[in-house]
Amino acid sequence: MHPEVDAVAEYVRAENGFLITSHVNPDIDSIASQLAIASALSSLGKESVIVNEDPIPRWLEFLPGSEGLRCDLPAEAGIRVALVLDASDLDRLGWVGDVVRERALPIVNIDHHADNVSFGRLNLVQPHVSSTAEMLVGLISALGLEIGRERATCLYAGILGDTGSFRHPNTTSRVFRVVADLVDEGADPERVATGIYYSRSVGAVRLLGEMLRTFRESDDGRIGVLELTRGSFDSSGATMDESNGYATWALSTRGTEVGVLLRELENGRIRVSFRSTPEVDVGAIARSLGGGGHSTAAGCVLDGSLDEVRGLVLSRIRELEFV
Ligand code: 5GP
Ligand code: MN
Repeated sequence: MHPEVDAVAEYVRAENGFLITSHVNPDIDSIASQLAIASALSSLGKESVIVNEDPIPRWLEFLPGSEGLRCDLPAEAGIRVALVLDASDLDRLGWVGDVVRERALPIVNIDHHADNVSFGRLNLVQPHVSSTAEMLVGLISALGLEIGRERATCLYAGILGDTGSFRHPNTTSRVFRVVADLVDEGADPERVATGIYYSRSVGAVRLLGEMLRTFRESDDGRIGVLELTRGSFDSSGATMDESNGYATWALSTRGTEVGVLLRELENGRIRVSFRSTPEVDVGAIARSLGGGGHSTAAGCVLDGSLDEVRGLVLSRIRELEFV
């Protein structure tokens, strides 16, 4: 039905020894997708290893199979093929991308970012699909497998993550049909919601409070800005990945079209997260600053103080999107 999906399924069926990987600072979609495809490969009797530059955020450890994720390359692994998920280019993979290049591994590139540069031998890129997890529902079926409860739980979580809990504009009627099927397969929405939204650390809740206190709006109310300094991470005890869903708060006031979260990294650089309504393409803004992402959720990392980066980002938004 989808020739590209069938081509990937055929290639995967004929191969063995998969290095499964995804982007740095993994989000729910990247983790959940890697776990689901690893489980599918295992059901096909194939060897695979999941390796990422960054560890799985602790709050995602409830996902079935998460103990299999690693941040180093096992010496004994007979790796023949790289399966790259949810990443728009090889540079997004950190050092794992260097390994893929050095070994000249054939790459299967499975992604839903519109700015994907088709870096694979096989490229399955579907920007109109909500998430890599949603794409994998079709691929796992094309591999002749049932989805099953554990894979359904992962894929449901990935879709929940990338649709912002069914709030973002990528929440199509098809998404609801797909997640309805995943629930029939055994995904438990209450259990996933508990894992993702109701298992925070006390520090993460305190960090949220500190962040919300920094909220400011542009004079015309179209841009909302939030900040998290090193000091707020230190005083709350929360980690960077615990604040990964917090950027949506910058878009939460009435009339706001662009939300920006600025986070001070340990190396002093500033991680910028953009969120927007469908009228504004923050992907283009992030790309103009050396980053990337989707039209309504994107990011980049910049040098400078919080004040400098805020100034640069706000002027770029004005230049590219607002008069
Ligand atoms: P977040 O703001 O949650 O970190 O990222 C939102 C979206 O933008 C995700 O799809 C993420 O992959 C993408 N993104 C974030 N930072 C970067 C970056 O530095 N480069 C690229 N290419 N994409 C990014
Ligand atoms: Mn994704």
